[in-house]
Amino acid sequence: MFVSIFNLFKVGIGPSSSHTVGPTIASRFFLKYLKNKNFKIKHLKIKLYGSLAYTGLGHGTHKGIIAGLLGYKPDNLNLDLLNREILNINKKSQIALAIIDSNIPFDIKKNIIFSKEIRDDFDYSNTIEFIAENKNGNIISKIYYSTGGGFVKSADDLDLKEIQVRFKFNSAKELLDIANSHSYKIYELIKENEKQYHSINDDDLKCKILDLWSVMNKSIYNGMQNTGKIDNNLNLKKRANHLYKKLTKNSREYDPLDVMDWVNVFAIAVSEENASFGKIVTAPTNGAAGIIPAVIKYYKEFTKNSDDEGVIRFLLTASAIGLLYKNNASISGAEAGCQGEIGVACSMAAGGLASALNATNEQVENAAEIAMEHNLGLTCDPINGLVQIPCIERNAMGAIKAINACRIAISESGQHKVSLDEVIATMWETGKNMSSIYKETSKGGLAVNVTEC
Ligand code: SF4
Repeated sequence: MFVSIFNLFKVGIGPSSSHTVGPTIASRFFLKYLKNKNFKIKHLKIKLYGSLAYTGLGHGTHKGIIAGLLGYKPDNLNLDLLNREILNINKKSQIALAIIDSNIPFDIKKNIIFSKEIRDDFDYSNTIEFIAENKNGNIISKIYYSTGGGFVKSADDLDLKEIQVRFKFNSAKELLDIANSHSYKIYELIKENEKQYHSINDDDLKCKILDLWSVMNKSIYNGMQNTGKIDNNLNLKKRANHLYKKLTKNSREYDPLDVMDWVNVFAIAVSEENASFGKIVTAPTNGAAGIIPAVIKYYKEFTKNSDDEGVIRFLLTASAIGLLYKNNASISGAEAGCQGEIGVACSMAAGGLASALNATNEQVENAAEIAMEHNLGLTCDPINGLVQIPCIERNAMGAIKAINACRIAISESGQHKVSLDEVIATMWETGKNMSSIYKETSKGGLAVNVTEC
């Protein structure tokens, strides 16, 4: 199935695409479903399962649910406004449901349930169950799965419309074969598909892609300006501003590794914004949202002849790589561990950078493969269930690794031993065999071995 660049890269708020963006979308879907059924709701209960139950409170899943019920979309969510609305709901014990225009009694603590019950009948671990009741006691319930990257799936597959595109591919080999047989670079092939998928022309597509970059760039800027602590119980101090100031100090002596420090700042800035419920672009998830912006910023600031066309090549190519992971493995920490988030973002960034630097299709594939090969087995074990430790630094490490993978790939011909398809299959097999304590549940690893101060 074709997955558009605008599905893989979505403007939203932090800190988690599965835990905040997905639930916001699912709530809207459910209200639309009730509207279609003309169901007069009097009572609503929402049950969260899987890692949404284990780490949902720290990730703000309840806020995502409420945002959707109030009619917000992830890209127009204003956190201050939402927090005020939540205070209001608590005060009145009532919520005004958007889309169906109904006021019903609602107690956030009682009506949103973090259920640790294990259910074998679900297709996916991150599950949201909506149960609505009318005045006659009739019930409509519906299940949605938050499958990572803000994607939401129900039995009806509401968020993914199957629109035919000219170039169908489902493996890196097919992608390269089709592209090479048409003498296309990968980004050119994706561009044709996107134009057809969205029925838009070249210029409009480019504008929409550059809009994404502009939100990413703004999140770097915001992260480098903001100071203080990330607002929650880990009490973690923001570092990007401090690192930025150190790098721009007049008295600073030249260090040949300055560029590495800059990439670290870019990635940490976005990740701190994400952890603080700031506006970011899921790339392809929120937890890994710092890598692609940091590598694009590196391309813009530190490579020769960089321009907006290079950014467009970067993002189109990265989306093709993301599609391969989404269709053949997973981009969710709850399914594949952190290799499915940081690993995938790193792989997308490495291939995207190679494309921006005018690499061959084979070099792009090689860059994406190298980047994932050295993220295999990476577990997800966020302390307190918050997307902060190890996540923020992990974005910096992922960005540096992506640049290195790209450099190794473009210094060679593109001929190599392990294919991207093989490494994707390996990642997925590793993810399936990984114990659930390392898959976004905060029941293992750093999450349990670090003593809190
Ligand atoms: S450890 Fe990785 S997968 Fe887990 S929340 Fe952090 S960034 Fe996401």
